[in-house]
Amino acid sequence: MFDRAIDTMSLPPGLADQIRSCNSCYQLKFGVKLDDRYEVFTGWRAVHSEHILPVKGGIRYADFANQDEVEALAALMTYKCAIVFIPFGGSKGALKINPRNYSEHELEKITRRFTQELAKRDLVHPSLNVPAPDMGTGEREMGWISDTYQNLYPEQVSGMGCVTGKPVHLGGIGGRTEATGRGVQFGLREFFRHPEDVARAKLEGTLEGKRIVIQGLGNVGYHAAKFLSEEDGAKIVTIIERDGAISSADGFDIEAVKQHVNENRGVKGFPGAEYTEDGSALLEADCDILIPAALEGVINQANAANIKAPLIAEAANGPVTFAADEILREKGTVIIPDAYMNAGGVTVSYFEWVKNLARIRFGYLERRHEERRGQLIIDALEKMLNTPVPQEIRDQLTTGADELALVRSGLDDTMRNAYNEIRNIFNSRDNVVDLRTAAFVLAIERIAKKYESMGL
Ligand code: NAD
Repeated sequence: MFDRAIDTMSLPPGLADQIRSCNSCYQLKFGVKLDDRYEVFTGWRAVHSEHILPVKGGIRYADFANQDEVEALAALMTYKCAIVFIPFGGSKGALKINPRNYSEHELEKITRRFTQELAKRDLVHPSLNVPAPDMGTGEREMGWISDTYQNLYPEQVSGMGCVTGKPVHLGGIGGRTEATGRGVQFGLREFFRHPEDVARAKLEGTLEGKRIVIQGLGNVGYHAAKFLSEEDGAKIVTIIERDGAISSADGFDIEAVKQHVNENRGVKGFPGAEYTEDGSALLEADCDILIPAALEGVINQANAANIKAPLIAEAANGPVTFAADEILREKGTVIIPDAYMNAGGVTVSYFEWVKNLARIRFGYLERRHEERRGQLIIDALEKMLNTPVPQEIRDQLTTGADELALVRSGLDDTMRNAYNEIRNIFNSRDNVVDLRTAAFVLAIERIAKKYESMGL
């Protein structure tokens, strides 16, 4: 996919290789004493590109993790940050573990030890390498990482910024947990603001009433499905999880399904829904939008030709293989690529990191000042017009933006701008064949410019 973009560009010889290479990848093996035994764990932290420091990227806990995957995901982080124009290089980490096989106490011990091993090598560090949650990890793990790091280096005033995605009471930021799903919503909203793009996907209108099939009801999938159905009127008609899929033509109440999944460790048995044991077969179901939000490689050579969705929003990282990508493009399927679509998480992570370095929450200084100004405007209007300002407008004018409102505004702005930059490249260059190539071109041009000005 990278090469396809490079072929449309004219970079100085060798620069593409410099951008493509993964700069380093550490493999760590460390033992942990659990209740009745010792166990050795394997983890990785890859640094793909340090053209900007710190490098940024999640840590996943998965028993199928391997070095190749970590390096590929680190590369994706480099491009993702460049696409949404936030000042980070790309990194990624993984621990080869199935977290479901360990108690909370054991996971804490393992995570704290993993953090020590990473910190010793500057692979967790507020100005060098800043991890975040990914598959199998969440704010709980980020809290443990942050606490371990700050215990090791209590003298670092910016220590809290060593990791993002922390709980709010440990220096996290409002809106981070749902940020990736929220970004998927904002990205899709922007797509639907462009009727030509919607028509290219053989669709029309807005998100209202669109039938969505989603795979994965984890952090990203749950929030994307919740916001798209509750706020945009889309219908989540099929949910694919580990244990199969459930379908309902009327669309699901996502909160109810999530509760069922939490209680039953799967979707099976959800009342009133049609259950299919072979969940992945429903990636091929008839729908308007397919949102893979679980794993990579789920749309591949074997099923690509059968995918009926005219629009795929890649909420997961790498859900469509290169071979499948080619097949789908031939078919006319529009794909909103992962490096853009799921960049909401890293965007809000950036806000969190800035907040940690500044050690002040967003909106703290301005909020009441804004409210007072709003009140002054209302007073002036009422005096001049001699009529009361309606309560709804009064409420809006006298509510200063708090941190959550500012985070949402910044994320919305980021997702809108980035989509427009991608589509401008796609629409203005004949040799750029799809949105993914356009996204890569945008990223590579930005990184190349940086390297060229640095003199590399
Ligand atoms: P998660 O662990 O919270 O959720 C993954 C979900 O997928 C779980 O509900 C799990 O049960 C389900 N799942 C696992 N295997 C499945 C299978 N074979 N079929 C159907 N469902 C299956 O992970 P997440 O954080 O939501 O991440 C999902 C994807 O999004 C990953 O590709 C990740 O790299 C990417 N991503 C996550 C973030 C983030 O902020 N969390 C940011 C960017 C990208």
